[in-house]
Amino acid sequence: MLKNILNLFFPPVCSGCDAFLLPNENTICASCRHEIPLTQHHLIPENEAFKKFYGRIPVEHVSALTYFHKKGIVQQLIHNLKYRGQEEIGTLLGAWYAEDLSTVNNLRTIDLVIPVPLHPKKLRERGYNQTTLFGKIIAKKLHIPFDPTILYRQKYSKTQSQKDRIGRAEGIDTIFDVVLSEANYNKHFLLVDDVITTGATLEACAKALLKIPGSKISIVCMAMADS
Ligand SMILES: [Zn+2]
Repeated sequence: MLKNILNLFFPPVCSGCDAFLLPNENTICASCRHEIPLTQHHLIPENEAFKKFYGRIPVEHVSALTYFHKKGIVQQLIHNLKYRGQEEIGTLLGAWYAEDLSTVNNLRTIDLVIPVPLHPKKLRERGYNQTTLFGKIIAKKLHIPFDPTILYRQKYSKTQSQKDRIGRAEGIDTIFDVVLSEANYNKHFLLVDDVITTGATLEACAKALLKIPGSKISIVCMAMADS
């Protein structure tokens, strides 16, 4: 009811092109949806996203729903998701991708969905982690729990500037850590993030999760940079 009244005065617009949405359209319009470049990674076990992690970390499955091109529709969507408060884009992409992911054999053993943790300062500024709703809807549709507590960013300490220097020198492996509870042993974790670029952040997260005995890692993202 309230939503209907609000829509009368503030009709919802497309997150891709700012056109007014039709009543049957949600978050993005039909023409933007058709413009989104899909990777079809879920159909190819050894896809280009999977290959990014060759020789770096053991992974069961890696895929991204879309390609991220500079100035393209996906860049616009991710920008709106991260910087314009349009958190619902995560739900849209996650619900969309969950259908494809439910057909992937290597994902049938997933136990938990884990978001890449946002820096606490960014979380305060933004008010939300942009991967939360994406991960939550995937977890819901795959009938497994979403757990944002197992993997976390190490807290700042007095020696942080020193740690940052070390962190930069070593990559970023030192930023993430995990809760080593026996309840988390022998799990297949599905790590979710917004965009895969170099894969360095995801690699660091995966390495932290691999400290848990018996863990297996899969990775799913909204987009993959095509460079
Ligand atoms: Zn549009």
